[in-house]
Amino acid sequence: MEPKVSPRYIQTSLAASLTLGFQQGSFHRNAKLKGLNLLLHYEGGCLGRCAFCGLSRSRQEGPKGKTFIRVDWPLYPLEEIIERAKVNQLVHRVCISMITHPQAQKDTVYVIRKFKEETDLFISVLITPTLIQNIESLREMKNAGADRVGIAIDAATPELFDRLRGRGVNGPHRWDHYWNVVRMAIEVFGRYDVGIHLIVGLGETEKEMVGVIQRAQDLGASTHLFSFFPEKGSPMEGYPSPPLDQYRRIQLARWMINERLGRIDQMRFDENGRLSRFDLDIKPLIQLGEPFMTSGCPGRDGKVACNRPYGNERPSDPIRNFPFMPEQEDIEEIKKQLGIS
Ligand code: SF4
Repeated sequence: MEPKVSPRYIQTSLAASLTLGFQQGSFHRNAKLKGLNLLLHYEGGCLGRCAFCGLSRSRQEGPKGKTFIRVDWPLYPLEEIIERAKVNQLVHRVCISMITHPQAQKDTVYVIRKFKEETDLFISVLITPTLIQNIESLREMKNAGADRVGIAIDAATPELFDRLRGRGVNGPHRWDHYWNVVRMAIEVFGRYDVGIHLIVGLGETEKEMVGVIQRAQDLGASTHLFSFFPEKGSPMEGYPSPPLDQYRRIQLARWMINERLGRIDQMRFDENGRLSRFDLDIKPLIQLGEPFMTSGCPGRDGKVACNRPYGNERPSDPIRNFPFMPEQEDIEEIKKQLGIS
């Protein structure tokens, strides 16, 4: 029997699988998914060894197989996903995640073309910079039909990146190369049509995290936050998620910087690098709720399509990235988490 691998088969996030009707169920608090997240799949898996990732080669596999950003990723034929996506009115965008595998570049272009030919969805690619050796590879993705790319830098500093994704784990990824690819991607896709993923809670200070957000913003890339979640079987399974107050401050700072309402130089940090003052009245901003919503690539309506419900926590835990506008009750909770009355 032929192996079920990409590009003929591709994994979907659990949320995408539910939205396309492959599985039955609804989301906690009735969140709606507008972006389909897909993941290339190969028998050898991802050649990366990132210490925090459920796909990592260094991970001990659990009974349910590998997970990526906390949730399960079931495998389906690409054609069937496309057929279901065509008739789904909810979905605005599809995102194809490459993994670190020699076939991934070629197969990503194939999958982009298929979606472009057969659907009217917007197309993002979460690229693996380690596989991108020149600007032509990015142009090929754009010409095939992708309009945005995401780059998961994940760690806020070169030291953490090297320790958790590079030499420290015998992994292939390099900080400088990632940022070179960010610059190339901005040249090909345009300013702010490139998004950088960052994981809060990998051991960085708040000042370091706000610093990398500002760096991305100044280069022409927006930033999308994730909260570290200890993936079972990964080398970091014993590490805690970041405290909620830390995560909320970083969400606020990211939103201000991306909305050009503030810069790092107007913010104050204490001797431990903790964000101690925004130099702006944050109460009305908290009341808006939007700073605490998932940030990601937009849909047809210009609003975030990639809302990744429950990608950061169990449904029973407090929501970190809201996949919908927080309600007043949520805002009160957020104020408490931030220690604001
Ligand atoms: S924000 Fe979402 S759609 Fe955009 S690149 Fe990241 S995962 Fe993909």
